[in-house]
Amino acid sequence: MPAPPCPGRLMVITGPSGVGKGTLVARLLQRHPRPWLSVSATTRSPRAGEIDGQHYFFLTRTDFEQRISTEGFLEWAAFAGNLYGTPRGPVEEQLAQGRPVLLEIELEGARQVRRTFPEAFQLLIKPPSFGELERRIRGRGTDGEEAIQKRLARARVELEAEAEFDAVLVNADLEAAVAELARLVGVDAAGPPAP
Ligand code: ADP
Ligand code: 5GP
Repeated sequence: MPAPPCPGRLMVITGPSGVGKGTLVARLLQRHPRPWLSVSATTRSPRAGEIDGQHYFFLTRTDFEQRISTEGFLEWAAFAGNLYGTPRGPVEEQLAQGRPVLLEIELEGARQVRRTFPEAFQLLIKPPSFGELERRIRGRGTDGEEAIQKRLARARVELEAEAEFDAVLVNADLEAAVAELARLVGVDAAGPPAP
């Protein structure tokens, strides 16, 4: 499938579950409203505090598969027993308006985007160590043991794919990592500190 005209910039942010992708992107967007973050669809159940349409569009598997069949996703993948996908229409609209678009997606989805949008910038977020990644996943307190084990197994695969990415960002000190992300997205990191 050819890439559509793309005056905006597409940026893929990948990294193991628990590395801090959501935290980094949320802090960036608090300070810089211009980049637009795609809201994914998923068949996973909402975690406590997650709002439908804001954190994810929570779909049944039947509805998700229906959207696959109508090519409603820019990319989609299975992860830790659930399906995740990027709704195509809103991303194309935002790119057409010239906004930087951020996709926070796992490795298989990043690979699909690399084929359909070869001009997209692909960033891998890494933890300072595997032990610290495990501490963060457990510290978040949102996943059961089975889900944690699936995410840690997948994390090793994702970290081994480092060479596929245009840039790598180690999320050690949070503020330094937000500043580096802002630089890579092309917005200035200056702004009021996050509450
Ligand atoms: P992801 O979106 O990659 O799954 P989260 O953003 O949910 O990860 O972060 C996982 C946990 O790690 C959260 O509890 C978050 O507060 C914590 N965290 C994120 N970045 C850092 C950091 N630089 N140092 C310490 N803890 C962090
Ligand atoms: P979580 O269940 O922790 O919210 O997300 C699990 C993994 O799915 C994370 O690596 C996250 O980046 C990824 N993910 C979220 N949305 C999408 C999506 O639309 N497509 C793909 N391929 N992965 C996604």
